[in-house]
Amino acid sequence: PETIVVQELANRMAERAADVVKSLMKMGLMVSMNEPIDADTAELVIEEFGHKAVRVSDSDVEQVIDKVQDADEDLVPRPPIVTIMGHVDHGKTSLLDAIRKTSVVSGEAGGITQHIGAYQVTTDSGAVLTFLDTPGHAAFTSMRARGAQVTDIVVLVVAADDAVMPQTVEAIAHARAAKVPMIVAINKCDKPSANPQKVRTGLLQHEVVVEQMGGEVLDVEVSALTGKGLDLLLESIALQAEILDLRANPKRAAAGAVIEAKLDVGRGPVATVLIEHGTLRKGDIFVVGAQWGKVRALINDKGQRVDEAGPSVPVEVLGLNGTPEAGDVLNVVETEAQAREIADYRDQVIRDKRAAAGAATTMEQLMAKA
Ligand code: GDP
Ligand code: MG
Repeated sequence: PETIVVQELANRMAERAADVVKSLMKMGLMVSMNEPIDADTAELVIEEFGHKAVRVSDSDVEQVIDKVQDADEDLVPRPPIVTIMGHVDHGKTSLLDAIRKTSVVSGEAGGITQHIGAYQVTTDSGAVLTFLDTPGHAAFTSMRARGAQVTDIVVLVVAADDAVMPQTVEAIAHARAAKVPMIVAINKCDKPSANPQKVRTGLLQHEVVVEQMGGEVLDVEVSALTGKGLDLLLESIALQAEILDLRANPKRAAAGAVIEAKLDVGRGPVATVLIEHGTLRKGDIFVVGAQWGKVRALINDKGQRVDEAGPSVPVEVLGLNGTPEAGDVLNVVETEAQAREIADYRDQVIRDKRAAAGAATTMEQLMAKA
């Protein structure tokens, strides 16, 4: 059942908690200001104080958030979102860095890349790809657990001087669970001890049949160290993306997932958002998890200020009133009042859950002691 802590109710009415407690006492309810009361009682108190109660529920929140069914003609191709996974030391970070550098030397405007949690590169054939900067399975799993599906393609890195290892197998399982296609990057092919064929047969044992073995999974021999094969890897990703025919509607209200968030000393709360659909613009009012805000500035992965960001584009968003969490979803809404209301509601839900969890622990502790 819905509840609200007396103190919180008092805050929202801008009344003193002690007065609310007194009013409850008159109704025959003995509660302290730290205790929750049910929604019906709260409504009585609110009326008693001469305010009007507005109840927000999950379904109200859903209604405010844009749930438009996209018309086919509004759906336009969007870049794939790529996550690199693989066993520790097989070269995930090196590969991400090498790909990032490739794009810098290929002379994109700006030049200086910012680490904002994701970046975009343009392949020689002109395809744009979005790479998530957080390799590793923990990030992938926790984002998915929070409902944010922010990967279209997994690049599975396997070192050619090693073999299929436990985390390689884990990555395969993750990609399968998420129903995301894989591309195999056989890395460290510059090494004299490299044996790409051993990797291919190793993968076969986990039912990953690469092209060279007559299967359909694209595999590319690369070296993050020398840069060999990177162009081919990027083109293979672009090819896989074309097959997936990824599309989004840039015209609707923007929605996206937070991939990184921090409290910056100079700039306040900053979140990197990967736009899922719609276009986020300066001045847009949004709710993100239990926070809300109005876009004050958008900064791209090259450190440049931009006026808008469309589907699959990662941007730093400034203008939040608090720091959200990775995996939180950002939704543009129409009015500040709506944004505030949804954020407050979610905040309350989170606090109620915490309070309930806290109470449960205390009970357990009491029982344990008894
Ligand atoms: P991660 O744990 O998967 O992120 O792996 P790293 O990117 O940190 O790489 C682990 C080690 O392998 C580092 O010492 C890298 O310099 C090295 N390494 C990565 N890629 C290559 C490569 O293509 N060739 C060679 N020779 N070494 C590499
Ligand atoms: Mg690493």
